[in-house]
Amino acid sequence: MLRPSNLATVLAVTLGLAARLGFAQTLPAQATAPTPGWRWTMDSVRRVVHAVRAGRSLKPRSWPGGARVAVLLSFDVDNETIPLRFGEPTIGALSQGQYGARVGLRRVVELVDRHRIPATFFIPAVSLMLSPEMARVIQQSGRHEFGIHGWIHEMNATLPEAAERELIQRALDTLTHLTGVRPVGYRAPSWNMSPSTLRIVRDLGFLYESSLMADDSPYELLADGQPTGMVELPVEWILDDAPLVNPQGDRYSAPRDVLQVWVDEFDRAFQEGGMFLLTMHPHIIGHRSRIVILERLIDHIRSKPGVWFATHREAAEYVARAAAPPLPPPRPASP
Ligand SMILES: [Zn+2]
Repeated sequence: MLRPSNLATVLAVTLGLAARLGFAQTLPAQATAPTPGWRWTMDSVRRVVHAVRAGRSLKPRSWPGGARVAVLLSFDVDNETIPLRFGEPTIGALSQGQYGARVGLRRVVELVDRHRIPATFFIPAVSLMLSPEMARVIQQSGRHEFGIHGWIHEMNATLPEAAERELIQRALDTLTHLTGVRPVGYRAPSWNMSPSTLRIVRDLGFLYESSLMADDSPYELLADGQPTGMVELPVEWILDDAPLVNPQGDRYSAPRDVLQVWVDEFDRAFQEGGMFLLTMHPHIIGHRSRIVILERLIDHIRSKPGVWFATHREAAEYVARAAAPPLPPPRPASP
């Protein structure tokens, strides 16, 4: 979940990508300095705020089997795409990404499979194309789900809509081909959604989206104030290993301190009958001193009665059915 460090690089890459894809003519006009919010009219504020917004809560009265809490573990298998996406990779950073495929992923899968826990793996298409054997490792138990996580971990908000649409479509085709299953879930790389992203994922028939933060429990997404039928499974930076336990991150915390935050989040979710969704990365959590905290967290969660471990798909399908009235299938945004 790294942030762009160099806007010029982002723009250069965007221009290069757009030119290669033939979209140069659709690029937005040269950006000018934004107008500060205090100069906006309330109409402008409302238009921006309501473009994509939380609608009704989809927190169910109870979880399957009468469980008190739903636990959803995500692994974003970014690997080499983190240094690749801005077009200026270094050999060292690429090797750190390759650790995810060679070591981290296997350690993560061994842990969840030993506990018979399902998980969802959001994988940028280029990451899976570089290490296609990861699909077999993940599929061995028959328990896990694949989700879309961009083509090369691109930052959606830097792309013209046509390029963004083309990359998500291509990622969907590639993951379907390499795994044999068509994913139904979308997570924006770096949780970076553009004003077009929701429209694109609706048009492509996704069941759920998992990049936004307006609740602790699932909710329906609104577009321009209108219900979309799209389930949002919300995330949070405090429930993400990338900024917290990466020693190069600017928000570094000791792994055992992070474990305490996650235990507190889970305990409160358990009390409130909610959802606990944790985002991790094999190239980060898969290290020896980090996998320990995931193992301890799983031990803590399993010590409680009434926990429903689910893939994101299972949770999205369940809350859509359990809603009153039930959520209709997501409607395409474009006629
Ligand atoms: Zn990612």
